[in-house]
Amino acid sequence: MKKRRKKKKALPLIAALSVIALSVALVVLAIQVIAQIGSGSETGATTATGKPEPVLPHDTTDPSVNTKAPDLATTPSVITTPAPVTTPAVSVTEPPVTTEPPSPITTTEKIPEPTPVVDYVYNVNMEKYEKYIDPTGDLWDDAYLLLVNAANPIAKGTEDGYDVLSHRSKFSSCKDYEYTHYSSLYFNDTALQALTAMFLEAESQGIKTLDITSAYRSYSKQSSIFNSNCNKTYHWMCDDEWCAADWIGKSSTCPVCGVKTSNNTLEITQEEKEANVATYSCAPGTSDHQTGLAVDIIQRSLPSRFDGLIQEFGETEAGKWLAANAKYFGFVLRFPQDKEDITGIIYEPWHFRYVGRTHAMAMDEMNLCLEEYVEYLHSTGYFQ
Ligand SMILES: [Zn+2]
Ligand SMILES: [Zn+2]
Repeated sequence: MKKRRKKKKALPLIAALSVIALSVALVVLAIQVIAQIGSGSETGATTATGKPEPVLPHDTTDPSVNTKAPDLATTPSVITTPAPVTTPAVSVTEPPVTTEPPSPITTTEKIPEPTPVVDYVYNVNMEKYEKYIDPTGDLWDDAYLLLVNAANPIAKGTEDGYDVLSHRSKFSSCKDYEYTHYSSLYFNDTALQALTAMFLEAESQGIKTLDITSAYRSYSKQSSIFNSNCNKTYHWMCDDEWCAADWIGKSSTCPVCGVKTSNNTLEITQEEKEANVATYSCAPGTSDHQTGLAVDIIQRSLPSRFDGLIQEFGETEAGKWLAANAKYFGFVLRFPQDKEDITGIIYEPWHFRYVGRTHAMAMDEMNLCLEEYVEYLHSTGYFQ
């Protein structure tokens, strides 16, 4: 028992000593390891430096690169020197370039003042309407310059993508002016207010009962109008055997002798029908009315034949007043007489298009139709 006890006592002693020795050894080891790691950590990446060899050799194997480097070094002297020279040169010329953007404008000379002087004295107090007549006052704001024509159609089903089309109201919603002809039609909100201002002003100058016969048309509406016209289009043959003229159109009256015929049995293709209709009616997707910014104007007090929107409207007092003053309310005559070859549409003295006063006055000053004006703004570089 004693031995055991002694043994027992001796064992712990030895064990304790060995434990101490071991732990000391461990601590020393640990310190060494830590020291190694500590020093190695710097090259830790380098410890990976065991792989740094490939890195080092890289630098060294780069002799290939190095050999190239010298090549570059020789050329760079040429390159780097001109580079810094060119960059400063560019940076030197850049400032004037950046301050020059207006140069494209000055070179064109035609550019009007961004905020045109409104040389018109309104009879009616326009305080309430000013923000609608000139919503942006900015020549570089294209919010109301949406260009829709045969070359720039609104594709079927894409109307939701046009911001101006998402803000429409019925004419009947306007309480300031009596729209009675087609008050259930829709028009852009801003344009409706500006049109109302124009009609109120016209009224104050004795031009009463201005009204509208057409405004916003959806793609499907334009489509049904176009198709309806196509369906009424025939290839006619004159009944007068001495005349024997033939023509394509909706009218059964011979354009040569004036005889009314019933012979519409001559052959005609759908393409021929559409081509004929396209001479007086826009194909779906290509009508200015699809912008929700165009309106056909009549004067209810005029003989009813003016409801048919005839060119003589331009010779009436109302037609003349509108042509001369629409710009002060943000509207332009969309299809002028002298621009038929550019717009592709015959002179329409009744069709007015809202663009906002700043643009309307600029277009008038430069004598540009919307096609030309949009192209012009693009050419200035200010327009996307
Ligand atoms: Zn005839
Ligand atoms: Zn029209």
